[in-house]
Amino acid sequence: MTQAADILIAGGGLNGPALALALARNGFSVTVVDGRPAPQRAEPGFDGRAYALALASKRLLAALGLWDGLASQAQPILRVVTADGTTAGGPSPFVLAFDHAEIEEGPMGYLLEDRFLYAAFLAALEAEPRIRLVSGTTVEAQEVGPQGVTVTLSTGAQLSGRLLVGCDGRQSGTARRAGIRRSGWGYGQTALVTAIEHERPHEGTAWQYFLPGGPLAILPLPGGHRSSIVWSESDAAAAGIQRLPDADYLGALRPRFGDFLGSIRLAGDRFTYPLSLSLAHSFVAPRVALVGDAAHGVHPIAGQGLNLGLRDVAALAEVLTLAARRGEDVGSPLVLDRYQQWRRFDATALALGMDMVNRLFSNDNPVMRAGRDLSMGIVNALPGLRRGFIRQAAGLSGDLPRLLQGRPI
Ligand SMILES: Cc1cc2nc3c(=O)[nH]c(=O)nc-3n(C[C@H](O)[C@H](O)[C@H](O)COP(=O)(O)OP(=O)(O)OC[C@H]3O[C@@H](n4cnc5c(N)ncnc54)[C@H](O)[C@@H]3O)c2cc1C
Repeated sequence: MTQAADILIAGGGLNGPALALALARNGFSVTVVDGRPAPQRAEPGFDGRAYALALASKRLLAALGLWDGLASQAQPILRVVTADGTTAGGPSPFVLAFDHAEIEEGPMGYLLEDRFLYAAFLAALEAEPRIRLVSGTTVEAQEVGPQGVTVTLSTGAQLSGRLLVGCDGRQSGTARRAGIRRSGWGYGQTALVTAIEHERPHEGTAWQYFLPGGPLAILPLPGGHRSSIVWSESDAAAAGIQRLPDADYLGALRPRFGDFLGSIRLAGDRFTYPLSLSLAHSFVAPRVALVGDAAHGVHPIAGQGLNLGLRDVAALAEVLTLAARRGEDVGSPLVLDRYQQWRRFDATALALGMDMVNRLFSNDNPVMRAGRDLSMGIVNALPGLRRGFIRQAAGLSGDLPRLLQGRPI
């Protein structure tokens, strides 16, 4: 028997649950299908994965009623310091520093561990009567008709809705089955991800070093003496580093950022993520929309991937809610085109911008290095320009959907 909902969401990572909540709070019935069993994903242990969430993303979580429960687990980002670095000599003296006090809205973002964010989403999904979560099952097929869309699950069950939203990540089967092509390339870089404990306090500072092999981010976690590490290296170098025993891994990490945090030790598991760019040629197709990594998988250089996805969530929820209030068919091309117009240019421009920054900084060319140091010095000397960067990092620039302003739709 086919079960019906207004909106079907394929993928229950982070953007899928956020969209389901935003839609359900505005009257839609939603079914979320996720391939991974929810209890497995919600394991409580600390695994070192954390997200730098922009202020605008925090506002969305607040508008969805999740932030009060998360606030004590989040670390405000009070300063961001970027510097050109060398593999052995620590940072260069040319640093670019951004302080949250330069804008009036407050901390430009927060560090939040994956386990806390996912657990909050899961609890909210389970408490919301308009949402049905089907986990441990995949969407295998989709069929679009004039009135709606029907998907077939790996169990053989069928679900129908007026719109199918693909939140199923970079390999999005929803996009593939809808005939949406993708462009992209591998960076030849792998991110080594872990967490460290350090002797000196981080004081809410996020550091980003541009090293020849790729960027190294040291992101502050609650408590003052723990930080999340996202350390990009060439694929071959990363594979070699990942194979090292813990002491040698730390021995390779330490000289890359110097000793300003005092002695360090590992405080989380060690993960690797191959890095690539993956952009969908269209964010919509008949009765289909793409959100998050399914639409745009980006380099983690500025920690913007999830923030971009949550912008999609807020924009799509607003477009669909306003369309439903006007009595429009939420799966119609006219409605979906509004979402595409709102998000595609912004997301693509940001993805390509991060691609360019990674190329400019991930090398040891002395001419490029001199140019980088000079441009960082210039930005540092111009408060107006610096404030522009801070607002961008906080997700406050551009045409903001209401949920990102912390307002209901
Ligand atoms: C090293 C690294 C560091 C990062 N740091 C940051 C950061 O600091 N800040 C930030 O904003 N972003 C960051 N990101 C990006 C962020 O992790 C991603 O953008 C985000 O997790 C994408 O979420 P998503 O829900 O779109 O996709 P995913 O998390 O990929 O979720 C997709 C879900 O779809 C499910 N699925 C797939 N196929 C099917 C199917 N056929 N049927 C049903 N379910 C299916 C999967 O099981 C999965 O649960 C980082 C990324 C990396 C690699």
